[in-house]
Amino acid sequence: MARIFCIANQKGGVGKTTTTVNLAAGLAKVGQRVLMVDLDPQGNATMGSGVDKRQLELSVYDVLLETATIAQARVTSEKCGYDVLGANRELAGAEVELVDVERREKRLKEALVRVADDYDFVLIDCPPSLSMLTLNGLCSAHGVIVPMQCEYFALEGLTDLVNTIKQVHANLNKDLAIIGLLRVMFDPRITLQQQVSEQLKSHFGEKVFNTVIPRNVRLAEAPSYGLPGVVFDPAAKGSQAFVEFAQEMVERLGKP
Ligand code: ADP
Ligand code: MG
Repeated sequence: MARIFCIANQKGGVGKTTTTVNLAAGLAKVGQRVLMVDLDPQGNATMGSGVDKRQLELSVYDVLLETATIAQARVTSEKCGYDVLGANRELAGAEVELVDVERREKRLKEALVRVADDYDFVLIDCPPSLSMLTLNGLCSAHGVIVPMQCEYFALEGLTDLVNTIKQVHANLNKDLAIIGLLRVMFDPRITLQQQVSEQLKSHFGEKVFNTVIPRNVRLAEAPSYGLPGVVFDPAAKGSQAFVEFAQEMVERLGKP
C-alpha cells in the first residue's frame, strides 16, 4: 500500500517542485515504485519529469472531475523511472468547476485508493496557495513534507501552513501530520542560514529531516532538459543529497 505525501508550502519559489521530482527520482533509484502527482496548473513537475504538459491526453484535471481514472490518465516517465499524473493550464479551471460538486475535497483521495497497491510512494506537488487543489492534496495524504529555505521570514510563513494542516487534520483527514521540514537551497557560508537552521532544529526537533539540500546550480539547470537533477547529473552535490533524502524517507517510514 502506497504511502502518500504532499510537498506543500504556500510560498512560491521555495523548492516544492524541485523536491517533488528529485525525491521521486531518488526513491525510484533506491528501488521504490513511485507515482508523482502534479497538482499545480503551471505543470512544472510534469515538464520536469520529461512529460510534455501540452501533449497530455488526460491529466489530473480529468481525475478531479471524475471523467478519467488514474489508471487511464497516468503516464510512465521511462527516463525518470516513475509514473506521472500530469497537469497543465486546464487544471486552473478545476478550482471553479469543483465549487458546486459533492465530496469536492476528496476527489483525489478516492481516485488514489484505486491505485494504492501499484506504488510504494505517491508524491503530490502542490501549488503555492491553500486552495481547493492543495486541499485535495492534503485530504489524500498521510503526511506533508515542507521544503523551506533558511531565511528570516521562513518561520513566519510556516504558521499559516501549520494551522491549515491542523484544521484539515481535525475536520477532514485524521491521518495527516507534518512528516518533516526539509532545509533546501542551503548555503552553509551564510551565517543567517546557519542560525535559522539551528532555530528550526530547536523549535521542531525530530521533525527536521537530517538531510540538507544544498544550493546547487545543476538542480536549477535540470528542468530545462526535462529531467530531475538526480537523473540529469547524478554526481552533482544536490542530486546526491536528494538520493540521501530518499533513503532517509525510506528509513523513517520503516520505523514504527
Ligand atoms: P516551487 O515549486 O516552490 O515554486 P521550485 O522547485 O520551482 O519552487 O524552485 C524555485 C526555483 O529555485 C527554480 O528555478 C529551481 O530550479 C530553483 N531551485 C530549487 N532548489 C534549488 C537548489 N537546491 N539549488 C539551486 N536552485 C534551486
Ligand atoms: Mg512548483
